[in-house]
Amino acid sequence: MERCPACRARFKEEPVCYRCGADLSMLLAIEAEATSLERQAVALLGVGAWVEAHHVAERALVLQFSPLAAAIRDLAHWEIGHS
Ligand SMILES: [Zn+2]
Repeated sequence: MERCPACRARFKEEPVCYRCGADLSMLLAIEAEATSLERQAVALLGVGAWVEAHHVAERALVLQFSPLAAAIRDLAHWEIGHS
């Protein structure tokens, strides 16, 4: 998250927006969870666990879109179909 979703103020790593006071703690928790899942997916790719990597990347993408998680999902999907 780079900007407050409510007022578009630049995000300053605080759980409350400095400009509009929006509570961003839930969003931060979701973002942290998505990042954690993304790391797990990378680790699973590293050991060739394609089905698990695909599953974990999908879960990360449900929480938050990221090009890395999307790439992992697509690669794992391709590997599942070609192995
Ligand atoms: Zn705001």
